[in-house]
Amino acid sequence: MASRIVILSGTGMGHLIPLVEFSGRLVRLGHGLSVTLVTIGPPSAAQKAILDTLPDSITAVSLPPVSLDDLPGDVRPQVATFLTVSRCLPSLRRVLQELTSDDGDGSKTGRLCGLVVDLFGTDAFDVAEEFGVPCYMFFPSSSMSLSLSFHLPELHVSMPCEYKDMVNPVSLPGCIPIYGSDLPDPFQDRTKDAYKWVLHHAPRYRRAKGILLNSFEDLESSSISSLTDTMSKPPVYPIGPLVRKGERASSDDPTGCLKWLDQQPRGSVLYICFGSIGTLGIDQLTELAAGLEMSGQRFLWVVKVPNPKGFVKRTGERGLIVLSWAPQTQVLGHASTGGFMSHCGWNSTLESVVNGVPLIAWPLYAEQKMNAVMLVGDAKIAIRPTVGEDGVVRREEVSRVVRALMEGEEGMGVRGRVKDLQEGAKKALSEGGSSCKALSEVALKLRQNNTNNNNNSVV
Ligand code: UDP
Repeated sequence: MASRIVILSGTGMGHLIPLVEFSGRLVRLGHGLSVTLVTIGPPSAAQKAILDTLPDSITAVSLPPVSLDDLPGDVRPQVATFLTVSRCLPSLRRVLQELTSDDGDGSKTGRLCGLVVDLFGTDAFDVAEEFGVPCYMFFPSSSMSLSLSFHLPELHVSMPCEYKDMVNPVSLPGCIPIYGSDLPDPFQDRTKDAYKWVLHHAPRYRRAKGILLNSFEDLESSSISSLTDTMSKPPVYPIGPLVRKGERASSDDPTGCLKWLDQQPRGSVLYICFGSIGTLGIDQLTELAAGLEMSGQRFLWVVKVPNPKGFVKRTGERGLIVLSWAPQTQVLGHASTGGFMSHCGWNSTLESVVNGVPLIAWPLYAEQKMNAVMLVGDAKIAIRPTVGEDGVVRREEVSRVVRALMEGEEGMGVRGRVKDLQEGAKKALSEGGSSCKALSEVALKLRQNNTNNNNNSVV
């Protein structure tokens, strides 16, 4: 009997992209698994472009949009995502009902043998359990971040003050110590809803039959081994790095940035991008532009707001500004790209590693400061600029780090290290590699659910 799994994606590109990769790898393993990939609300143009690449063996379903009209205008993005998932559950229930009642025996769609959600989706566990479907979690961030979630219930009790006011850093097993101010955004104010949501979800991770971690052993070896060693939590499977491939198609270059890169010397261009939604304030934008100009380095900068006055003209052929969106994986895979100034979103981080490109860590929101701490202090593949007391990185500092990365000794160190990790990533994903084996193990467990649980019926 064929086996089907349902994957529920949180909103946003950073969630959908790795899940599309995960779905593709799972069906390609050849264990007879098919996938229904569920998104919430009509997909945006960028999401649609990604969903259009899915092979026939993966069915995409979009649930009706949920209304968030009752929320205040300044609601935190994490809270909006948690609520979106919890409000879509009635529609998800209908999808599961259809899949489990199909001919009574799953002969058309395959027996439902698992629901995979990402870290915003643990409320969906309740629905899956109604149908007797085992639940798994896809964790789209670092092992350090997962470790923080596992330890949150005890941290919450043992540290009664705000994390940012703690004198000593937090020590998570196998991870570099981290100061409270570098913990993810929801941890910065315990009185706010975002923290309450995180606190609600973290203990629920333990209900998963397994946690699929988008990371790999070489990148976070000691943190991963402390997670995989412990028997008391669900098994953690490091299956990454799952990122989109950087193959070039002519349709990928509407802005002409890849053609521009073709004309630049090898390894000479700093790529600058702050993720799918990251923006800088006008003061920071001005300092960054001035610092880039001072550095004298070539750059390709994705900006989401109008660029600082006169800047494009002054940097002439040395720089290219792309409005809104660049084909990032192709840019990072291009031979002319020699560095990446990044907000340290986890997908961007993995894409940089897979392409052997060292980073300037410029974290903005979510868990990015934590990623930056790990990338600089542990993986040693990034340089982090010092932020001024007013929260702005000054132009001199921008110029210093850009030059250090692109032509300094510090740059040579991080470049050498990221090239080693690039090799490590390739090995992990190749046949017999650690991530490939872990994914295979997950696929076999999912198939076993089919045999052990071939009576999933609606209750
Ligand atoms: N991305 C892209 N072009 C852009 C900006 C982002 O292709 O101009 C992609 C990027 O390659 C990555 C994803 O969008 O796969 C962003 O995910 P990440 O986790 O890095 O950050 P988020 O946007 O979720 O903060």
